[in-house]
Amino acid sequence: MVFRSFFIVMMLLLGSQTACASDKALHDSPISAIGYFQEEGLSPLALPQVTQRFNQGQFTHAKRQFLTFGINHHATWVRLSLYNPSQQHIRKRLVAAQTWVESVDVYLVQQQLLQQWHTGDAQPADKHLVPTVGYAFDMDIPPGNSEIFIRGQSLDPLTMPIELMDVDQSRSEWMKIHVAIGVVYGILLVLVGFNILLYATLKHSVALYYALYIGCFIIMNFGYEGFGFSWLYPNSPQFQNYSTLFFMVLHGASGLVFVSHYLQISAKKSPLRRLLQIYIIAGILGGAISVALQLHILMAWIAFSFISLTTLIMIAVALLNFTRSIDARYLLLAVSCSMFGLLASALSVWGIIPYSFYGFHGAEFGVVCEAVILAVVVAFRLRNIEQERITAQYMATHDPLTRLNNRRAFEINATSYLQQTENLNKSVSFIMMDIDYFKAINDSYGHHVGDQALYHIANLLSRLHRKGDIVARWGGEEMAMLLPNTELAQAYSYAEQLRQALQDSPLLSEELHINITASFGVSSCINHGQHDTLSDLYKTADKWLYYAKNQGRNRVEPAHD
Ligand code: GH3
Ligand code: MG
Ligand code: MG
Repeated sequence: MVFRSFFIVMMLLLGSQTACASDKALHDSPISAIGYFQEEGLSPLALPQVTQRFNQGQFTHAKRQFLTFGINHHATWVRLSLYNPSQQHIRKRLVAAQTWVESVDVYLVQQQLLQQWHTGDAQPADKHLVPTVGYAFDMDIPPGNSEIFIRGQSLDPLTMPIELMDVDQSRSEWMKIHVAIGVVYGILLVLVGFNILLYATLKHSVALYYALYIGCFIIMNFGYEGFGFSWLYPNSPQFQNYSTLFFMVLHGASGLVFVSHYLQISAKKSPLRRLLQIYIIAGILGGAISVALQLHILMAWIAFSFISLTTLIMIAVALLNFTRSIDARYLLLAVSCSMFGLLASALSVWGIIPYSFYGFHGAEFGVVCEAVILAVVVAFRLRNIEQERITAQYMATHDPLTRLNNRRAFEINATSYLQQTENLNKSVSFIMMDIDYFKAINDSYGHHVGDQALYHIANLLSRLHRKGDIVARWGGEEMAMLLPNTELAQAYSYAEQLRQALQDSPLLSEELHINITASFGVSSCINHGQHDTLSDLYKTADKWLYYAKNQGRNRVEPAHD
């Protein structure tokens, strides 16, 4: 967006001067001289009057072929002196004005008027409109001296790139231009889709605002370059004139909303946030009123000043947050890309660097860089947020020492399993395990060795647990297991296997060799969906665990009468 505003500001500053961008020497085309003249009054001049002005020396000589006159409601006349040294007519294609110019009249004259055209975006789109390129006219230039008069008038900035080329050459040049613009749109559309997907999956609004920001840019650019008018709504010049300008405002507004979410300005109840809200609402409201009252010039001024100011605000906000946030630095980097592209465009428009399509549209390519950098940064940011969310969720459901489920997660998972299988008449078993004389390990070797012992046991359980079993640290040095689809006898033998494995795996730590054993209580039932099944299973297993303790420990006690 930056490019658009500064480009426009540049044009406003240049005002009614001729900013010349093309280094293309005039001698390789039939054009031998270019002059321009601006109408003073508001009533249009006719061709004979303008010829008279030229004869009176009222035309200013232009050295190059790219003319720009800023926002200026006075019509501007450009006169091309042509010389065709051959004996025949030569067919040429003239590009005389850019896509947003409202009224373009072209006259081919040799003593008398030979041919005449009228077009512009104040009337339905016609064959002269070539998206991205401008308005083009095919003509047969007679032998000898002749001239072309072009009258351009626009409530938007008036830019008149004057090019006279061979039809075949124009075709291949335009093809290249359209491929390049296609690539730009392709990248931007992928970014929009990618961010909508990010929003749909991660629900982070910053991705949605970013998609909106780029989406508005595409629609604005699509209108501005003439694609919309040429392809989608050729019979709606009103829509063409207002939609581009209005989307310029929306692009700026969505950019600010994105930046304030991106830099988390909106999270703070700051006066800056209030100011930004007022500014955005004022811009959109001003635009809407201008559209409703059909005040084109007001709409143009609102759009251009809003987008220029918005760019400055974005840079200021990024600079203000520069030291505080790494995101602000990325933002500045991204915005600098479009500024650099803009510079290329501005220098190209001024003629300081030779005119080329890529230089002139450098700003658009800058915007692509800006968009790609921001998209990557946003994607990384969202990935980090997602990772933090996953970590937080893990921490909420797992015991940090043993990495087993905690009791809360166990109860949620076990309840959900029991509900899912309540009508299937399946057996389900529960094992309660408690380490024997664990306090003695703490007392003898220190708490940290006790922790190691817990980790060691949890590891063993994780290694030996069967698919589908729900294992958790119930609390302290007690572990619980829910065994789906398992009868009491199977649960008993599995617990016995665990008991044996633990007995056979002493904790080897810091030259220590600590034998660890545990006692187990096992319960089982057929899941009929009673609401207290889990609690009954737990109580019974716990009861038989203490029975096992009383029977001397290091043993498994299945529930029995
Ligand atoms: P019993 O055979 O009767 O189960 O004896 P015990 O010593 O294992 O049982 P008791 O309930 O008396 O002691 C359990 C100990 O477990 C007490 C507590 O300090 C210790 N404990 C609980 N959680 C942790 C922990 O996270 N780390 C360590 N190191 N010790 C813990
Ligand atoms: Mg114990
Ligand atoms: Mg205990």
